[in-house]
Amino acid sequence: MNDDTAASTPKRSGPYELVARSTYGEYQGTKRPRVVRVAGVAFGERLPAIIAGPCAVESRAQTLEIARAVKKAGAVMLRGGAFKPRTSPYDFQGLGDEGLEILAEARTVTGLPVVTEVLDPRDVERIGRVADCLQVGSRSMQNFALLREVGQSGLPVLLKRHWAASLTEWLCAAEYIAVEGNLDIILCERGIRTFSHDDYNRNTLDLNVVPAVRERSILPIVVDPSHGTGFASMVPDTARGAVGVGADGLIIEVIASDRRRRSTLCDARQGILPSELAAIVEDARSWSSRPRRELARG
Ligand code: PEP
Ligand code: MN
Repeated sequence: MNDDTAASTPKRSGPYELVARSTYGEYQGTKRPRVVRVAGVAFGERLPAIIAGPCAVESRAQTLEIARAVKKAGAVMLRGGAFKPRTSPYDFQGLGDEGLEILAEARTVTGLPVVTEVLDPRDVERIGRVADCLQVGSRSMQNFALLREVGQSGLPVLLKRHWAASLTEWLCAAEYIAVEGNLDIILCERGIRTFSHDDYNRNTLDLNVVPAVRERSILPIVVDPSHGTGFASMVPDTARGAVGVGADGLIIEVIASDRRRRSTLCDARQGILPSELAAIVEDARSWSSRPRRELARG
């Protein structure tokens, strides 16, 4: 860099100034997040917003059945992947465009807004025609071309943390979206990889990061106890923990019934039943009036 270039480089207050709490006078001295709205659903207001649905859109019947069930259980947004980031290229990769059509139908039937993952910058526009919120998955957290593209889409973005990303790296990824003029970003903690990998934890759910995000950033944060634990039996209690530390919402994978678990292609082990989801929703609603949660949320 020569002297002229150095002189014309604007002075930054930090590597992620647009999403940093310290940048905004009105947010300083509070733990209040900036409210992000997705088709009328608020993230960062008093009540935690519960997103639920299948891991993947596997068929029309499966998706519509689960969508109706999560709506009945009290979820306010539908999740479901049409384009799936699978570790092996031989695993089910999602239904693609057919999956998007099914999600659009599920939204019409239930009235729930839809969040779905985008893997490729070239798909942002196409997926954005159906999705109310674009999900950037853990594996894509540092796909900078994708981050810029979703930033330009103007749609709200659910940005999952990579399992090996520090908080700074995660907030810098959010900054890539913000520099494109899009501050409608919802962070999502989904578990990190640690030495502890057992029959109760596919990942280690990092609940510490919720209050740490509060201190450093104005962005709302939701927690994914499904990928964060990897086991259906672990989801209800960790969901309660996430709400207790002040999360602005939860994103939870659901299967229609235990009988269906065997035929589920993607993340069958961690999907909870609609009745379990209903209990989590009820519990989350009751937390919102408890003084301890108010302290956590500020
Ligand atoms: C998902 O939510 O469908 C998913 C693939 O999660 P993650 O990116 O956190 O692994
Ligand atoms: Mn999944």
